[in-house]
Amino acid sequence: MKRIAILGSTGSIGTQALEVIQAHPEKFEIDLLTAHNNADLLISQAIAFNPNTVVISNEDHYVRVKDALAHLPIKVFAGADAIVQCVCSDEIDIVLTAQVGFSGLRPTIAAIQAGKTIALANKETLVVAGDYISSLCVKHNVKIIPVDSEHSAIYQCLVGEYSNPVEKIYLTASGGPFRGRTRSELESVTKAQALKHPNWTMGAKITIDSASLMNKALEIIEAKWLFGLDATQIDVIVHPQSIIHSIAQFGDGSMKAQMGLPDMKLPIHYAFTYPERVVTDFPRFNFLNYPQLSFEAPDRATFKGLDFAYYCLQEGGNMACIMNAANEVANAAFLRDEIKFLQIYDIVEGTMERASFLAKPNISNYYESDQESREIAHELIKKRQE
Ligand code: NDP
Ligand code: MG
Repeated sequence: MKRIAILGSTGSIGTQALEVIQAHPEKFEIDLLTAHNNADLLISQAIAFNPNTVVISNEDHYVRVKDALAHLPIKVFAGADAIVQCVCSDEIDIVLTAQVGFSGLRPTIAAIQAGKTIALANKETLVVAGDYISSLCVKHNVKIIPVDSEHSAIYQCLVGEYSNPVEKIYLTASGGPFRGRTRSELESVTKAQALKHPNWTMGAKITIDSASLMNKALEIIEAKWLFGLDATQIDVIVHPQSIIHSIAQFGDGSMKAQMGLPDMKLPIHYAFTYPERVVTDFPRFNFLNYPQLSFEAPDRATFKGLDFAYYCLQEGGNMACIMNAANEVANAAFLRDEIKFLQIYDIVEGTMERASFLAKPNISNYYESDQESREIAHELIKKRQE
């Protein structure tokens, strides 16, 4: 029995993880569920899965959750600090980090320090502080198993290749809803259009990141830290059908690709069951439904996020932390209709130019840099509105 904590159980990844767990009650037990605002869903999840503990990070909802679960032997806490404390419980084996954005950093650090295996969905953690997180994992002998579909694919390709170095990886990208659009066509795209992803149903933040390809930018940096690669070893190829989830190429020129239907339950299930392959009833791939798998180069001049990521890899230090913070602010502003789609890039670029660069940041520097970058990004948005 593996005992699992889900940070962000009310989100897209969190709810799919619960479906995976529900299908295998003989293998998994839920110890901890956390949510931010969605108290109703957290309450019904707690009633259905009977965890030891639930945490609602927005303290305004504490009394509601506490009262609703008063008749059950479930501990209820509130606040971000409570997540950090509860994730360290001795009862937990695996922590699925499915909170969105920078908020995932602190609980992930705590979970690593407590020696938990990390099933990592929250890619922002590695983008912000990849060097710190990597050395922390070495120190505490902790394994990070990626949940992000591309990184799960590479991870699966590397099984059994321990002494064979990767020459290069290709992260596949669907291209999102705006694939093939020119810059001028993107001037006036709306939030509703950006939220319509062709292949995946995901939370709002990552769906906008997929439309802007900032998601792929984050994934380039995530891949660097997960697999110890440098920039020249990470490439992106647009593959609109999202069937090949990514590809590893080895020194003999051979390539291994992992493929399957686009369903996040598969990488979540893999992360929970690794190194086993446990039988599922997920729908199987039918070649005849996909007579053609196609590939094309990303349009890096229009979708500028990819170049930002390579710039971050070149500069190192806290540059990716700056990029991430600016992107979170710009993404949220676009979702509030405060900026236009292409201005996301202007805000990110402007913040990367202005925020204080540190070549060798420590962990406190990352929190400070995140804060400073958010302030700069908000300033830039305000100026654009004047
Ligand atoms: P969602 O927006 O659907 O869910 C986010 C979850 O985090 C919710 O449970 C939410 O709680 C919680 N949350 C939001 N803000 C905070 C906060 N400040 N503190 C604590 N908890 C918070 O996101 P996704 O599930 O789409 O994504 C989660 C992570 O997984 C992201 O890092 C994303 O990049 C990554 N990922 C997602 C994929 C997907 O298919 N969705 C694919 C690959 C990676 P509440 O709803 O209660 O407010
Ligand atoms: Mg992905």
